[in-house]
Amino acid sequence: MQAPGRGLVVVALLVAAGCGDDPPGAPDAAPSCPGEAPPAPPGLDPAIEARVDALLARMTLADELSQLHGSGLAAVDGLWVTPDVDALGVPGFHMTDGPRGVTAGPSTAFPVAMARGAAFDRALEEAIGEAIALEAAAHGADVILAPCINVLRHPAWGRAQETYGEDSYLLGELGAAFVAGAQRHVIATAKHFAANSIEDTRFDVDVTLDERALREVYLPHFEKVVKQARVGAVMTAYNSVNGAYTSENPVLLRQILKDEWGFAGFVMSDWVFGTHSAAVAVAAGLDVEMPAELAFGELRAEAERCELSAAQLDDAVRRVLRTKLAFGLDAPRAVDPAVIESEAHAALALRAARRSMVLLRNEGGALPLPADAGLDVVVVGGLSGVANLGDVGSSAVTPSRAVTPVAGIAARYGADRVTHLPTDVLDDAALAQLAAADAAVVVVGLTADDEGENIPGRPGGDRETLALSPAHEALIAAVAAASPRVIVVVEGGSAVTMSAWVDDVEAVVVAWYPGQEGGTALAELLAGDVNPSGRLPLSIPVDEADLPPFDHTSLAVTYDLWHGYRWLDRVQIEPRFPFGFGLSYGDVTYEAIAIADDTLGAGDVVEVTVTIGSVDRIGDEVVQLYVEPPPGAAERAVRELRGFARVALTPAGTATARFEVPVASLARWDADADRWVVDPGSYVVRAGSSSRSLPLAATFAVAAE
Ligand code: BGC
Repeated sequence: MQAPGRGLVVVALLVAAGCGDDPPGAPDAAPSCPGEAPPAPPGLDPAIEARVDALLARMTLADELSQLHGSGLAAVDGLWVTPDVDALGVPGFHMTDGPRGVTAGPSTAFPVAMARGAAFDRALEEAIGEAIALEAAAHGADVILAPCINVLRHPAWGRAQETYGEDSYLLGELGAAFVAGAQRHVIATAKHFAANSIEDTRFDVDVTLDERALREVYLPHFEKVVKQARVGAVMTAYNSVNGAYTSENPVLLRQILKDEWGFAGFVMSDWVFGTHSAAVAVAAGLDVEMPAELAFGELRAEAERCELSAAQLDDAVRRVLRTKLAFGLDAPRAVDPAVIESEAHAALALRAARRSMVLLRNEGGALPLPADAGLDVVVVGGLSGVANLGDVGSSAVTPSRAVTPVAGIAARYGADRVTHLPTDVLDDAALAQLAAADAAVVVVGLTADDEGENIPGRPGGDRETLALSPAHEALIAAVAAASPRVIVVVEGGSAVTMSAWVDDVEAVVVAWYPGQEGGTALAELLAGDVNPSGRLPLSIPVDEADLPPFDHTSLAVTYDLWHGYRWLDRVQIEPRFPFGFGLSYGDVTYEAIAIADDTLGAGDVVEVTVTIGSVDRIGDEVVQLYVEPPPGAAERAVRELRGFARVALTPAGTATARFEVPVASLARWDADADRWVVDPGSYVVRAGSSSRSLPLAATFAVAAE
């Protein structure tokens, strides 16, 4: 599943590492090649711009070029660094990954981003962004290479776990929350821009998209993270889009990101294989080549030949300097090493794990399984004794400790009540133990061997199938035949098809890669101390064939408007478990929906209030809001998520969720007019507990623009 030969290239490049320093020589001025200056982004701080001007005036060409690439192929103490200009007091960047925690040295391992997608919790994500940033800063970093906000076009994508799910709105909301938290301490990086949703061919695949699919599905979350959260850095993807590699794609970088959205920060390439040109890339909008000067080795000669205008070169350097000054990298910063793996961060990881696990099935009240009832529980499966934290690629985090499923369950139920069978193959004695016990918790799923980043020489890549391994399916069948109460715990970073076995077991919990406190959260959830409140950030189909095809070998793919629930709604196929779905202990009723003003214009905001009530629920409900457009000139998704709120419930109580949906967010991209258009007419707004369970509806009218 790996691209052959890349390993050799990496080795060759590593051997060459250290040869990438700027050539020595007398101070030299940047050539004054003609060309129009790119427009200045809106909202700049004049004081910072003045300081940047002063620095630029004193910089040699070598100084300027030094700001546009990383220092070397190897990370230093776990950090990717870029050159400083000591004489001018300009610091370099110090970068670390990534989406589930800091990869430079021991750090808190949070549940993966997909799990946090299932938490549907902006405040939680903001807190995690801040915690990761604090630990990154304490490790010496000033740039965190997260969040990853790529669309999960198909659940077989190897890096599914690093993103927040299949829906652009959810990606934008959680990405913006992460950035808001992270940028209190470091510069965040939205990656991988854009349309990066296949792993095995990631270095070479060309993704063809029409303007509508690009604008409506693959870019809105990046736009939100740029405009709303003002992310400081954007990382390009390896793939090309519409024939141009993203690192030299003027439509994506120059036109949309910088000119249209007003992005004021800097664009960096993805690592090593992410660049293919120098002047062409800078002119297109790439500012920094990471992790070393590779393709950009040509930049000096090309600049001297005026293949790049002075204004374009200036713009790239200016963006780097502006970001460094805006985030205070030139001033001493107080960092506190005690934040690394602090108790507060462990508690946050635990909270995230509690909120992210999704209860998909609970027949006959199999759960909760009371911990004080003297029940005998068998915990079974090769993964049950493993802290399964996810991919071992660039997002791998190494915590000093992590709670395995069996450790969490034994701690909660009492070691004397728990029998551990850490195997996928059961002998007669094991089957007898299962038959004699009150319940079995079977831990199955995926590991870094099954899915992950495509790094030459490492396991991972895309999945061939969405099913569990035959060994895990056989294990579930064997346990189901022996045990009276079977609870299947599925780990992994994406959807797993369950049709082969789901009807044969009493309960199913998707635990994802739950982070270092995962075992504790799982036990609390099984025991009923915690009410499950995670909801699927992706669709789980009955059969893989129900989804659009996924070709992880092709070098040319076409993405359109349809995947996930938008696809399943369009083709009217019932998923096994729909987007947004998840059970809790206790019932909730959707009681009323109200719209403040039901006649609106394109610039207005739809104000919606949803009232829910609980019968016997203690815990959170994720209230979801979907909007259905009127029939118009172009086919659109049946409905799309446009709001969600986590609401706390108490027994026999009611609660309200308030939503504000800008009418502009309901627009479609009109390719002929080359702009967003809000179709006039009657819209339906639906509220409920998943994309397929929406008991409340109200309508509002939008007048012609
Ligand atoms: C990954 C990025 C990561 C970078 C640095 C690349 O291979 O695609 O997501 O940030 O490596 O580790």
